[in-house]
Amino acid sequence: MKENKPKILLHACCAVCMGYPTELLKENYNPVVFFYNPNIFPEEEYIRRRDELIRYCEEQEYEYIIGEYEPEKWYAYINGLEQEPEKGLRCNKCFEYRLNEAAKKTAELGIDIFTTTLTVSPHKISQNIFAEGEKAAHNYNINFLAQDFKKQNGFLKTMEIAKKNEFYRQQYCGCEFSIRK
Ligand code: SF4
Repeated sequence: MKENKPKILLHACCAVCMGYPTELLKENYNPVVFFYNPNIFPEEEYIRRRDELIRYCEEQEYEYIIGEYEPEKWYAYINGLEQEPEKGLRCNKCFEYRLNEAAKKTAELGIDIFTTTLTVSPHKISQNIFAEGEKAAHNYNINFLAQDFKKQNGFLKTMEIAKKNEFYRQQYCGCEFSIRK
């Protein structure tokens, strides 16, 4: 039986990155996990990350929603930024794209706040994620929880949960441009 806490939509990029944020959010909310990541390449990798996340959500009895896999829309959105380095302009567009969809889903579900696991990663600039999250929240008249999940040893705790649960751990962020040669 779920405790009577307000819902929060948690945009999640993979099982690894959702382990710690869900633990933290559970103190004040019932998290609804939303997997929306059309940036992931190739499709086999997308399926692997998606299915690992589903496995964990079902084990933990988290409500979850799987968004559409529509990479052609994502490629069109970041068009012209393919050669940008990680942490650059392509990543900001990628945050914008995914967080806008997360905000839209939050509003559709009648939930009034959302956040994202993206700040767990030390390879991402949290302030840029916050800026896109706030914009997306404004677009749909909801709130964005600007939580920097890598703080207070968040990344370390994330890795501990991943190890304990034997999660599949990918070697690159997600898009084909982030695959390390
Ligand atoms: S490196 Fe990661 S955040 Fe940046 S564009 Fe690629 S998938 Fe998106």
